[in-house]
Amino acid sequence: MQKKVALATKHGKLAQIAPAFASLGDWQIELVEIDTDVYGTFSGEVPRLLTPRDAAIEKAKAGALHAGLDFGLASEGTIGPHPQIPFINADLEVMAFVDLKSDFAVVETLMSIEIQAYSSTVNSDTDIEDLIAKLDLPAHAANVTINIDGERQFIKGIHHPEELRRLVAGALGQSATVEVENDFRAMSSPSRQANIGALAEKLAARIGSHCPACNQIGWGSVGFEYGLPCSDCFEVVASVAHAEKLGCVTCDHSELRSLGRDSVDPARCERCNP
Ligand SMILES: [Zn+2]
Ligand SMILES: [Zn+2]
Repeated sequence: MQKKVALATKHGKLAQIAPAFASLGDWQIELVEIDTDVYGTFSGEVPRLLTPRDAAIEKAKAGALHAGLDFGLASEGTIGPHPQIPFINADLEVMAFVDLKSDFAVVETLMSIEIQAYSSTVNSDTDIEDLIAKLDLPAHAANVTINIDGERQFIKGIHHPEELRRLVAGALGQSATVEVENDFRAMSSPSRQANIGALAEKLAARIGSHCPACNQIGWGSVGFEYGLPCSDCFEVVASVAHAEKLGCVTCDHSELRSLGRDSVDPARCERCNP
């Protein structure tokens, strides 16, 4: 039986998300163009008050309600410095699937360093051709903020190099301050689109998995079990996982999947390597 899921988006993510769900065979996506910007924007005109996970869930619920469907789907991206690798930008994508009737949410995430992200302050010394190359126009797009005497003008989604040249020249001619950055809305960012597509595959695989006990959809990883003995002194190292825990979104059933290791290298042992 064909089931319908509402995809809440304002920025054209259908092309990235639909193929993964279509490959499951029994899911059909219905596009719901609600104003997802009320949950916050990349460029900061609307502050983001929820965590990315909660924002994705709320958007998915709002889309399902709007469409009058039980199931909803939405994603949320955050682009900024990589948490572990300094000076590298990362795209953290979060995608939520909700079932309003059974009252559950399945959330998958993807962290990628494959993201076109550049920002700069522009002045009369700026090499505009170099700037255009660093922003990767016209494949990607730029947002421009122009400040003239405290008046702030914000222009989004500039793909064409000529438009950027014209805007910057005009603004600098009026002694404005000019800031440029890549536009991260899905429709403007092919590098982000690829990440959203990869995450959709991950979430669709999860939705296509059923609980062995109750047959509910969304069976998958819910965490890890920790604690493995040191191979030298046999002291248990609590910070190392030995199994992944798979769980159901509605019933209590869970299973452990071994990570294939039965001891820890003494280098990671507190007693052997304090
Ligand atoms: Zn040890
Ligand atoms: Zn179950």
